[in-house]
Amino acid sequence: SEPDSRLAVFLKSGTYRLDEASAFFIDPVRVLNRSYTRFRVSPSAYYSRFFPYSNPSICNPHVSPKNPKKRKFRGQDKKISQALNSREQLADRRHQEARMGLLKAHEALLGDSDLLGVLRNLRGDGDENHGEMTSDLDFVKLGSVWQAPFYEIVLKVGDDGSAAENAGIGSSYQREVPVFDNFIAIESSHDIEAELLDHKYILPKKSCVYMSDLRQIHKLIPAESDCGFNLIVIDPPWENSSAHQKQKYQTLPNKYFLSLPVKQLTHSSGALVALWVTNREKLRTFVENELFPKWGVKSAATFYWLKVKADGSLIGELDLFHHRPYECLLLGLVDGKGMDFEELQKPIGIPDNQVFISVPGDHSRKPPIGELLLDYIPGPKPARCIELFAREMTEGWTSWGNDPLHFQDSRYFIPS
Ligand code: SAM
Repeated sequence: SEPDSRLAVFLKSGTYRLDEASAFFIDPVRVLNRSYTRFRVSPSAYYSRFFPYSNPSICNPHVSPKNPKKRKFRGQDKKISQALNSREQLADRRHQEARMGLLKAHEALLGDSDLLGVLRNLRGDGDENHGEMTSDLDFVKLGSVWQAPFYEIVLKVGDDGSAAENAGIGSSYQREVPVFDNFIAIESSHDIEAELLDHKYILPKKSCVYMSDLRQIHKLIPAESDCGFNLIVIDPPWENSSAHQKQKYQTLPNKYFLSLPVKQLTHSSGALVALWVTNREKLRTFVENELFPKWGVKSAATFYWLKVKADGSLIGELDLFHHRPYECLLLGLVDGKGMDFEELQKPIGIPDNQVFISVPGDHSRKPPIGELLLDYIPGPKPARCIELFAREMTEGWTSWGNDPLHFQDSRYFIPS
């Protein structure tokens, strides 16, 4: 497609095709904004890292790359390459497989001056930290006390299905519903405001949320399998040193994920499963040999999320052994009732090794990739989509986890 029209599409949709590299650039803020009408996602709140003025020490392209930390890693790398054990060799082979595609995607980005221009300005449009710096509600803690069933969230809805303020005097009303262990559906055609314990939340139009611990997840299983889901995105709280060190959320041992009811959540016409994994070889082996077989998922493709800074450079060196500047999204298919896998997979044909590039937001926050997967989802359209271990809500999706309102806090939004 023509550069100009690509840019126009990007400014609207948040997705930019890098045709020559079978890659995409994504601006999560623009993608997310499509779930909202009265509010929009604050770019400066989303892009809290990797922009020069948010943290000069890590992002300033003029700072010499030869800082002492990197030198230490280089040294380690040399040692590793001298004596890779068999697991490290496997990891290295995987990395080599991904490497060419990642380099090509990155070159395509660096060669596109229009896109680089946009990239530099993703964060800045004068909304500089509007938000009161109140601390977030700790839903995990709140949901685990004996009073949890009594916490109610106030939904400010208009009775014509629109948001309260637009509905005129007398026609708006508030709905109070339990916030924990309760399926909440926002049917409004506008985003709505909600309140809980002096905190304000912005909830997207036509979205659903269920906030509970893993122990309650079976309550999401539909009574009829034609009410199940065609797209299941999962970002588990894998155990790893990084999440632990930063203490951002609780992690769980791998064996807990074996009991996720993926098959029972699947629609009778089958489902695409998209699983975020870390680069630890031990985890990849676990997913391939135990987790996917247990869930009834057949591997279909691997996509890569390449992370860049606002100047287009990678957030870290591509070949650093323990700190890759990319993450993997494993795609697999679950067959529906009375179908076999071949029958399901043939018409779908998911391309392998697609790369999507974005500037990371908060720690562990993944870019919204639903749209990139649309063509590969089995079953009727519009697809029924669910995200497990979600920290935000999206139009047309059900979000489940113990913290799915995290990024719905009003401090991540500005009125539009
Ligand atoms: N995909 C999310 C995003 O982009 O922001 C990040 C998900 S994070 C890797 C994993 C999530 O699982 C965290 O929000 C964490 O609180 C949640 N979690 C941890 N233990 C859980 C449990 N026992 N039940 C439900 N959710 C849990």
